[in-house]
Amino acid sequence: MTDRWIIGMRIFPLLFASLFPVEGSAQSSPNRGPERTWITDVRILSPEKLDRIERGSVLIENGRIARVERRKGAKPPAGATVVSGDGQFLIPGLIDSHVHLASVPGTRPEMNFGPAGAKPTWIKEYFKQLPRSYLYFGYTTLVDLAAIDRRVLDEFRQAPLHPDLCDCGESLPFANGYPMSFAPPEVRFQLFPNFIYDPKQASSIPAQYRPEDHTPAAAVAAVKASGGICIKTYFERGFGADRNLPVMGPDVLADIRQAATQRGLVLMMHANSFDAQRFAVDGHVDVIAHGMWNWGDFDKQADLPGEIRRVLDQIAEEKIGYQATLQVIQGLRAYFDPEYLKMTAIPKVIPPEMLEWFESPDGKWFKKELAPDNTPDRVMREGLDKGPVRRGHQVVSYLAGKHANFLFGTDTPSAPTYGNLPGLNGYLEMQQLQASGLSLEQIFRAATINNAREFKLDSQLGTIELGKIANLVLLKKSPLESVDAYDTIVAVWVHGRQASRGSLAFN
Ligand SMILES: [Zn+2]
Repeated sequence: MTDRWIIGMRIFPLLFASLFPVEGSAQSSPNRGPERTWITDVRILSPEKLDRIERGSVLIENGRIARVERRKGAKPPAGATVVSGDGQFLIPGLIDSHVHLASVPGTRPEMNFGPAGAKPTWIKEYFKQLPRSYLYFGYTTLVDLAAIDRRVLDEFRQAPLHPDLCDCGESLPFANGYPMSFAPPEVRFQLFPNFIYDPKQASSIPAQYRPEDHTPAAAVAAVKASGGICIKTYFERGFGADRNLPVMGPDVLADIRQAATQRGLVLMMHANSFDAQRFAVDGHVDVIAHGMWNWGDFDKQADLPGEIRRVLDQIAEEKIGYQATLQVIQGLRAYFDPEYLKMTAIPKVIPPEMLEWFESPDGKWFKKELAPDNTPDRVMREGLDKGPVRRGHQVVSYLAGKHANFLFGTDTPSAPTYGNLPGLNGYLEMQQLQASGLSLEQIFRAATINNAREFKLDSQLGTIELGKIANLVLLKKSPLESVDAYDTIVAVWVHGRQASRGSLAFN
């Protein structure tokens, strides 16, 4: 429904990227904390030890966890800054493994990527606030799935305080397939330079692109060379007038799989339909990057069909990473929910002028794209709730019962919707996951250790254990007792550097 716009957002940065060459790629880490911090008298919630939640203390030294004392009354080491966690809960920093930092929620592509004059002044403020908005909701590590604009990622990493950021480099669409199909034929190969060549389509691929530079092995090597930790590819036959897009066959996916394994990269596939997720499972991808809200011929069926259940059983048994991304549809629904823009958290994560614009008729341009006939809000809500929302929830509920390997990922923003705001969208996703039947423990694991393991970051992140990076969140409530605990953050540490929650809000 919205993919045309996703493409618009991809096209603009790529068209303009050549005008603004990236200056240097060396990454310094401005995240640096004091030498020693002693967080004491706190309940330590770490995913490897949830059966025994003890009161204790954690020592941070030079950005790392230097001691974990699971007993009361341990003495603070000399010279340490002491932080009392009395009555509070300490958790590992949260990980959102599906974001798109270069895309600005709610905006038309040209507003963000067009000529300078077309840019509202608040876009600059939005990007300045972006790292802190994720931290405001406890997200200390992010994975960007398609580096459509390197400058944004570089600037994010240079911010005074920012979540750790990994990326999947340039994504791997199949020649002329989704999502490059939405770009005009003259430019689409320029826009998606890491596409996979298809000899059957040789006549519609410009001659300057040599097949040998666009094999699965070459495309995977390019991601590795750019510093990516994952491969993002797609299986999408299209919809509406764009049905029957070219898609890769199992042979191509097998080659990508082999190359990703050789290079030690995580293989992720965009797949939101039954058809696509079955293909992804058969091709042994590591991560399915969406929930399944398109059931194809089964769309109208009230119960989860046996055919779909069999694929979900495989996803659970084979421990394929599953990003439910329920906020994709909720983000569209936000335009038809008069309460959405009234949320008190919104002014914390975006500039006031941006919110004002969202509230204006022009700021609701995307609503007209979603409901061109001025369909009443109530009818739109019901249509979404009975269709994609219901199907997405049924699938997640089934997978929750099968203890699938859920990975917390929001796809922020998944469309140019104002319904997917940084940081806040993660909190809303958690509420959706709970409403779909995930236990609080499943949500907690999905956003910590499951993500850390899947993306091979678990030697550094994901638990509160000796030697790991001191990315931590202090909460007033236990996230194992209620999902709203994630909105009771007192302080966040990034590489040992402490920030109070208030200091992370826009105002
Ligand atoms: Zn995405």
